[in-house]
Amino acid sequence: MGNTVDSHTVLYGVIGDPIRHSKSPVMMNRAFRERGINGIYTAFHITDDRLGDFVAGARAMGMRGVNVTIPHKLAIMPLLDEIHESAQAIGAVNTIVNDGGRLTGYNTDGIGYVRSLKEEARSDLTGARVLIVGAGGATRGILYALAREGAASVTIANRTLARAEELADAFRGLVPDIRAIGQDELRDACADSDIVINTTSLGMYPNVDASPLDGDWLRPGSIASDLIYNPLTTRFLEEAKARGCLVHGGLGMFIYQGAYAFEYWTGQPAPAAAMRETVLAALQSGS
Ligand code: NAP
Repeated sequence: MGNTVDSHTVLYGVIGDPIRHSKSPVMMNRAFRERGINGIYTAFHITDDRLGDFVAGARAMGMRGVNVTIPHKLAIMPLLDEIHESAQAIGAVNTIVNDGGRLTGYNTDGIGYVRSLKEEARSDLTGARVLIVGAGGATRGILYALAREGAASVTIANRTLARAEELADAFRGLVPDIRAIGQDELRDACADSDIVINTTSLGMYPNVDASPLDGDWLRPGSIASDLIYNPLTTRFLEEAKARGCLVHGGLGMFIYQGAYAFEYWTGQPAPAAAMRETVLAALQSGS
């Protein structure tokens, strides 16, 4: 079954700068094909100075959905008609839904991550002691999504302690028992955690020998999770596996942030397994 482009075809896409590395088009077009949706999804290289023009164009052409990536996730916000609470809390938009000319910004990164963690590693996060290493934009999204999951505690460790403290302060009240620590306390925190999540870029291609912590610090039987999906298995995850941990890679986060966007646009359940298969094939072929 192919995407047949005709005069009813609805346009979707992703914007960013750079954008040619994006796997979103292959993933989303596969999803449209699987569900028999008459849509087509492409990648647009949009520089900062053309962002306003893009939004006007998206409205004029009646694009139904847009994904937003680096560096536009913040700058797009004032150009939209409405910001959903998910994007408001995170302070960034990665998905736009166009309802008859009214553009609403959502953020599906954090909820995508948590859905992936629950599907692939631990179905119920109630009572979990979670350690997040890193305090950037991705951590903010994960904290937003974790707030609904009943975790017993969340510890944020970061090289720059002030950034971890800022996040802990912002989510206190939403996430019970949240605290910030510096690198000096990381070893002890690992021993006390059920789930350790790497949200730093340490270990990402081409610096594949880097890792945020020593795998021997982890508790055997705990879950080690990495947001990085290039490479699919990082040094952090390799060491964790050798230590007897259950490992969870970053590909699922990418798939499910897209799955939520697909569901918001089409109202249909996303074909997540097919989407994963297509992205894996694209990553493995280097296309
Ligand atoms: P970000 O805002 O730039 O934050 C980067 C974090 O990494 C900060 O906490 C930073 O610490 C830490 N860090 C960077 N270099 C470090 C070093 N040498 N030593 C110790 N800490 C270091 O990035 P982000 O947007 O949150 O993204 C973080 C990671 O998640 C990236 O690897 C990204 O590819 C991945 N990601 C994956 C997906 C997915 O779909 N799987 C989606 C989003 C992001 P400081 O505060 O001290 O600088």
